[in-house]
Amino acid sequence: MRARIYRANGIVLRRTNLGEKDRLVTFLTRERGKLRAVAKGSRNPRSRLAGATELFNVVKLLLAAGRTFDIVSQCEVVRGFGSLAEDLDRMAMASEAVELADALVEEGETQPPLHAALLLALEGIAASGNPASVARCYELRTLSDLGYTPVLDRCVVCGGRGPGAVALSPSAGGVVCERCFGAASDGMAISAAALRALRSLGRRSIESAGQHHVAAEIHAEIARVWAPFLEWRIERPLRSAQFARALSVRRGA
Ligand SMILES: [Zn+2]
Repeated sequence: MRARIYRANGIVLRRTNLGEKDRLVTFLTRERGKLRAVAKGSRNPRSRLAGATELFNVVKLLLAAGRTFDIVSQCEVVRGFGSLAEDLDRMAMASEAVELADALVEEGETQPPLHAALLLALEGIAASGNPASVARCYELRTLSDLGYTPVLDRCVVCGGRGPGAVALSPSAGGVVCERCFGAASDGMAISAAALRALRSLGRRSIESAGQHHVAAEIHAEIARVWAPFLEWRIERPLRSAQFARALSVRRGA
């Protein structure tokens, strides 16, 4: 039997309005994986729960088991990421990070490594000098942790390790060489430099990725081919990636 009252350490992934006064908040918790709980009265901006359940917040929770949804009885903010609101690029990357976590785990599925990885990613995206490197490293690590390691060091079709990888194919799960390009109908061209950068980020820890500089044009190229790769894996469009694409189009990147 589940305890009526329990504690959990969580990160706010999403929140949606529930009726006139409440919100349904999705947390990724260390102890119980992804869970949704009602934050009563939190649609009122003056309610303490409204601020405590802001997106990206790292929180200590006291929850009460409910019939349909559990109820947030206490929510103490351990770390907030309000500064992200001042930087649209970082905000888009952080949104993509939580959206990916939300899409990759089912409710109740415990994923302590993902909780730790998301925390490191949000820290690095908010504060490091290379937020895009942190974001891509987190995504590569997360796919690997969940058993979806993208094949980047050889052709995913023929296994050839020559230098001729020319495209990234979401459906094949990695890069394809020139000869196999026709076999992967969704292959998107990728330059040798962008592929090198992606491989190198995949070998790093999320903490060290924040010190890894990659030229802005290489990051822009990676973002174009990488978002469809993630979207294929989670079987739906990433709202935040569409937002990031709109940002870069506006800047002419
Ligand atoms: Zn091949």
